[in-house]
Amino acid sequence: MLLRRLIDTRRIDAGLPLEIRAALVESLFAPVSSLLVGALACSIIGATVALSIGDRWIMGISAAILFVGLVRVVSALLYKKSRADCSATKLWERVYEYGAWGFSALIGMLCWLTISETADASLQMIVTTTSAGYAAAIAGRNAGRPFIALGQLALCALPMAVALLIYPNLVHKALGIVVLMFIYGMVDITLCSRDVIIQALTMTRKEAALAARFEEQATRFDVALNNMSHGLCMLDQKDRLQVWNGRFLELLNLEGIPIKVGTHISRLLRYGIKAGKRDARTLKMLFRELARSFRQDKRDQIHISPDGKRTLALSRRLMSDGGAVVILEDVTDRRNAQERIAHLAKYDDLTGLANRAQFHERIGCLLAEVDNKESQFAIHLIDLDRFKSVNDTLGHPTGDKLLRQVAHRLGNLVGPSDTITRFGGDEFVILQAGAPRTEDASWLAQRIGAEIGEPFDIDGQRIDIGASIGIAMAPADGRNADELLKKADMALYSAKNSGRGKHCFFAVEMEAAAHARRALELDLREALASGQFQLYFQPLVDLNNNRVAACEALLRWFHPRLGEVPPSIFIPVAEETGLIVPIGEWVITHACAEAAAWPNNITVAVNLSPMQFKDNSLTLHVASALAKSGLPASRLEVEITERVLLEECETTLRMMGELQELGVSISLDDFGTGYSSLNYLRKFPFYKIKIDQSFTRDLGQHHDARPIVEAIASLGVGLDKIVVAEGIETEQQMRLARAQGCHQGQGHFFGPPMSGAAIREWLAGTAVKNQLVA
Ligand code: C2E
Ligand code: MG
Ligand code: MG
Repeated sequence: MLLRRLIDTRRIDAGLPLEIRAALVESLFAPVSSLLVGALACSIIGATVALSIGDRWIMGISAAILFVGLVRVVSALLYKKSRADCSATKLWERVYEYGAWGFSALIGMLCWLTISETADASLQMIVTTTSAGYAAAIAGRNAGRPFIALGQLALCALPMAVALLIYPNLVHKALGIVVLMFIYGMVDITLCSRDVIIQALTMTRKEAALAARFEEQATRFDVALNNMSHGLCMLDQKDRLQVWNGRFLELLNLEGIPIKVGTHISRLLRYGIKAGKRDARTLKMLFRELARSFRQDKRDQIHISPDGKRTLALSRRLMSDGGAVVILEDVTDRRNAQERIAHLAKYDDLTGLANRAQFHERIGCLLAEVDNKESQFAIHLIDLDRFKSVNDTLGHPTGDKLLRQVAHRLGNLVGPSDTITRFGGDEFVILQAGAPRTEDASWLAQRIGAEIGEPFDIDGQRIDIGASIGIAMAPADGRNADELLKKADMALYSAKNSGRGKHCFFAVEMEAAAHARRALELDLREALASGQFQLYFQPLVDLNNNRVAACEALLRWFHPRLGEVPPSIFIPVAEETGLIVPIGEWVITHACAEAAAWPNNITVAVNLSPMQFKDNSLTLHVASALAKSGLPASRLEVEITERVLLEECETTLRMMGELQELGVSISLDDFGTGYSSLNYLRKFPFYKIKIDQSFTRDLGQHHDARPIVEAIASLGVGLDKIVVAEGIETEQQMRLARAQGCHQGQGHFFGPPMSGAAIREWLAGTAVKNQLVA
């Protein structure tokens, strides 16, 4: 039975985890003082016996006991120093084992010698009791390493038992048997104690491992909790805080406030006020909202700043035990983004004005009111004059600033019931709700015109623009938004045509004109392909010698149904639709080809519209027309009006330079009708100035025409330009023009616009005439 337990102990011992073994070894060395006391006590007893009986052997053993005892003390001290090192456990166990066994063997020998060498019962008694006491101490002290303990027991108690058994005295023999029984008992106690120790150590180890795992998980949970973007707290049934994270306090602006587990949520309020984190009113408001939300098992939004700038989303989940988990999330950015999207859906981002969507909403309400109350309102469709050239020349950022300033000025003009919207680009629309009469609408339009016509100052730069306005009245002009906008657009078209900076009300004729324009536009697309255009030429005559100096190419459209359509009608339509570019190319090609057949001293003048300057291939096309026809560039003039210059931009200037580089000369047509800016005359190297026919026509009839013609002529002469009087119909006009200093004349008096064949014939005729004159 005991043997079996010993075998089991051996097996279990071999499989003990290292740290348990280390703990057991540590327990061997632990009571250092007892080692010292044991060594001293045993050596004193030995010495006493040796001296009493005068035995050298016993004295030697006593000295050895003291020596081994001291060595064990030293080894125990050394172990204490190095015990952190688990790998040396086995070595230290061996050290202890040899020390313990050596010490036990010496005590066994002391016992043997004392019992066998002396018959002094008192000496025998102190040695046997010391030995028995030591043996008993072994079971208590070294039970953790049972084989060391058993070895010690055997080495110290067996010699005593044998010595007593062989002693020739019955009492001694009986004592010897008792010692054997004692040994057996000690072995049993050692093994039992060892089992208890191992069990206790294993339990402790498991608990330590569990505690470590729990701690690790708690740390991880803590890290996760405190790194959450959401604020979290767990409340018990009575709304007392159980768990919370830093973000929870941060979101409520209560960081650094001493909160304990069990703090009631309402106490946070008091803490917050005490710490001066927020003013009491705000905090009370906030916690009222919080408390209300805490009682509901749902998601809610609360505003935690008085101005509502920060928004928290709060969601509360009730738990089965009556407690709750509350999650707070800062949704300020999300809410701002949503508000911004909602704002963008209704307002123009650049100017902050209402956008098209809101216009439709508002006009819908106004139209509904019109139906119910028989009121009326006006739509002002505003287009900024020259805005495009500001954008092109000064750049989009300046254009944007200008639009903002325009929006601001418009805002100052309208009433509270009016709505200003921006449709995009430079197009603004005002819904004038408090305008029951046309006079009110006209009055507002005039003010808009005047206000926008005032110079703008953008980054220290003066900018002059204007506003053309088309007005439609509701319900007279329409009962739905699209119809009213269409009518306002027609009125705007008419306003632009009657000169910039004007306003026009919609009139029924405009609709008819718009339809006609639309029909014309469709026909115009056909005209070029189906050869309905012809070029006519009108001579420009030198007023001093009556010789033809040039012929101006004038486009004619022979419409199959409408007959001849005047350029004043179709050229604007062609410009609006962009058809002027291919038509213009056709004109240049044919004009050059025709002029190539004329006498060498006669040039050809071709009219170019502003639209053609937006086409980058203009110069290329002119060069190719010259090359194809063989006409020298010096025999080609292009006529541009001030409209081209108004849209002055980098490209226009560059193209004019390119044309001049080709050798083509540039004339300023219809001078006196537009802005007649003297600045243009200085800025651009014009070759000719053509005085508009409206002045020539009045020569001899209106007394103010003559000084104007004279002034322009002298200006031209002064600037070294050729001055041409257009529209000369009578000899008197011709004489007056010549007298005022004009160099050339053009008009029916000299010759009307003629077809290519006719001009050739006419030129031949004038050549003969000239020869005769000569
Ligand atoms: P413009 O360039 O000033 O052309 C002169 C206009 O005056 C021509 O009108 C001509 O027929 C007219 N005219 C000439 N002499 C007299 C006269 O003694 N009395 C009167 N009452 N009128 C006279 P037209 O041909 O109707 O052209 C009108 C305008 O159309 C031109 O004015 C020009 O700006 C434009 N245009 C004509 N052809 C073209 C073209 O090929 N391209 C472009 N872009 N514009 C053109
Ligand atoms: Mg012309
Ligand atoms: Mg002209």
